[in-house]
Amino acid sequence: MYIVKVLIEHPVHSLDTTFDYLYDKQLLVGIRVSIMFNKQRLIGYVESIEETSLTKEQLEQQSGFRYQYIESIIDEEPLFNEELQQLAIQLSKLTLSPRISCLQAMLPTQLKPSSHQATGIKMITIVCVLHGGIPKTAKQKECLDFLMEHSSLALKDIPFSKGVVDKLVEQGFVEYQQREQYRKPSIASLQKEKHVVLTQEQQCVVDSIMKKEERVSLIHGVTGSGKTEVYLALTAKILKQGKTVIMLVPEISLTPMMVDIFKQRFDDQVAILHARLSQGEKYDEYRRIKRQEVKIVVGARSAIFAPLENIGLIILDEEHDGSYKQDSKPRYLTSQIAKIRAKNHHARVVLGSATPSLESYSRAKKGVYDLYTLDKRINKKPLPEVVLVDMVDEMKKRNYTMFSTLLRQKIQETIDRGEQVILLLNKRGYASYVRCQDCGEVIKCPHCDVTLTYHKDEQRLKCHYCEYQIPFPHSCPDCRGTRLKTIGFGTQKIEEDIEKTIQGAKVIRYDVDTTRNKNGHLKLLDCFKNKEGNILLGTQMIAKGLDFENVTFVGVLDADMSLNIPDFRSSERTFQLLCQVSGRSGRGKKTGTVIIQTYNPDHYAIQAAAHHDYLSFYDNEMLYRQKGKYPPYCHMVSVIIQSKRESLVHQSSTHIKEYLENHIHQGIVLGPAKSGIYKMQDIYRERILIKFINTKEVYQALEVMNDYYNKQQKGKVTVVCDFNPYTQI
Ligand code: ADP
Ligand code: ZN
Repeated sequence: MYIVKVLIEHPVHSLDTTFDYLYDKQLLVGIRVSIMFNKQRLIGYVESIEETSLTKEQLEQQSGFRYQYIESIIDEEPLFNEELQQLAIQLSKLTLSPRISCLQAMLPTQLKPSSHQATGIKMITIVCVLHGGIPKTAKQKECLDFLMEHSSLALKDIPFSKGVVDKLVEQGFVEYQQREQYRKPSIASLQKEKHVVLTQEQQCVVDSIMKKEERVSLIHGVTGSGKTEVYLALTAKILKQGKTVIMLVPEISLTPMMVDIFKQRFDDQVAILHARLSQGEKYDEYRRIKRQEVKIVVGARSAIFAPLENIGLIILDEEHDGSYKQDSKPRYLTSQIAKIRAKNHHARVVLGSATPSLESYSRAKKGVYDLYTLDKRINKKPLPEVVLVDMVDEMKKRNYTMFSTLLRQKIQETIDRGEQVILLLNKRGYASYVRCQDCGEVIKCPHCDVTLTYHKDEQRLKCHYCEYQIPFPHSCPDCRGTRLKTIGFGTQKIEEDIEKTIQGAKVIRYDVDTTRNKNGHLKLLDCFKNKEGNILLGTQMIAKGLDFENVTFVGVLDADMSLNIPDFRSSERTFQLLCQVSGRSGRGKKTGTVIIQTYNPDHYAIQAAAHHDYLSFYDNEMLYRQKGKYPPYCHMVSVIIQSKRESLVHQSSTHIKEYLENHIHQGIVLGPAKSGIYKMQDIYRERILIKFINTKEVYQALEVMNDYYNKQQKGKVTVVCDFNPYTQI
């Protein structure tokens, strides 16, 4: 008999303790099992096993506790190797989240196969030759000779009837084996394979990074400076050393091209992990990695946990991107995990960006990271010319539309020349919100503290924070007035405007709504590539990674949208977004232009973006961060207190604030304040913000607080710690 300690994933409580179950056979640590807990069937991880000579009755007598048996075994082999099991423990400590949630986060999204049936593994029958000899009939001999030439083949590929092969099996010459067939994710083919000889600058970066193991390097390279080719060259070198590579990109939908390029260059050695794969595809890709059948994993954030062995290189492309921060339990920062894994494997970390985060760039300046700069585009192609249009002037000219005269003119000129346009508007839907002209009431989501967004094609109002949606109302829910007006502009409305006012415009709208279907984003990009449309209109999804040589003009409709978000990173994000989207213009033979429309043409973030001047942005922003005591001048942790009962939230947050103030002496405790969106999905949220230097002291205080609320006060109030918070929502 064995006593098995099982770590349980509980749907409601944040449990982080193990429970004892019995099993009559030896089990492997790290596999998942199905068990009953409080009359519920749950999945747990085997954490340790202990053999005992006692019977169930003796054990129960000894402990005064009723034991249950493990119901069934889910995995044949452990999901995580020793390194990843240790990593889960580290991750749990770093983020103050339950170990079970860390283990879950390390698997591809919602990958919880309970049986082969559930994941639909396609089994195929293989015929394997055991030995030669002389079968009973001539036909059988012919078949065996054929098989001998191939040693093993799929049954369906053999040019003999199954009856003949069956006879060979009966006589013991060959046998059937069942093998799994992998589902292969489809990829785009937006890029032609190029044969590229690295420039001297690129070669220097590659050589220098290869010289040092265990270092973090930051490649600051303007858009189109050939960073991707550097990643590819580094990858090839690491593979030659017999090591493996993790290549991370911001949420994959944004950079379908990167996956494409790696697949083309390294073919079968690449596995892809990203949210858009089907469950089955994810499971298959994961197993290919687990079995060490691939050498490279390309994927979004969670691919940092890919169960590769012997890692030589971890790359984070667009390292500044917000999607590298996970905003649900466990709230980790991908670069932090990359550094831990790199250390475990003596590997290199490469961070690349045209607009590095302030944190990374300041580390590079201090020499904590190695800094490499690629400040010219390939072939010395100039960066596009950027024109700022002051929208206040447009209003003075009584132009109240979203298009300045110049922008309209440029779009028209570009498409008249047969070239293509990218337009950025960071707002999906048709209009921002709906207001009653009689009482002034704005229609809001009853579950969240936000306005509903009008989606014209479906004639519905939708909440962008929960699933709530309603048909467009006939009258105001408040005063019953019937004069409802849509206010603000979304991508859908702009699409309609352009098609009405610009001759020959064929708009392809690229946002969450139009790319929701599987591979929907690839289809749209393919259409644009094939010139089925001449204007690609989208949210920030279009700002990154796209490389279309016929795009010579980029327009930003409202640069201030991201600037006005109350967050200390809003200038940084605006600068990054503007640089990224500008970088889409003039990547081919022709030079590009960019127009940025703004109400703040003098703002340093907008000025610096217009002049492609990262360093001036960096200097200005560092001053602001220093004055306001923001990262990188300190660390930050946001403590989120949430409950369905409003009164409990405030009571607890006041109490927590007092506790933290008494226990943190080298830091500032701010708040509590209501979250950016106070009510979300019927849960009320307040926040306490801590700015600190002494990490140890803060962790100690938060651990105690976290334990108290999540263990003693189970369920009523939840407290979440968010280190390096990226959102105030
Ligand atoms: P980044 O990732 O820095 O934006 P890319 O790697 O996408 O830049 O390079 C921009 C373009 O230049 C791509 O079309 C790429 O194929 C091309 N390119 C990169 N390096 C070279 C090179 N050494 N020789 C010729 N073309 C190159
Ligand atoms: Zn809602």
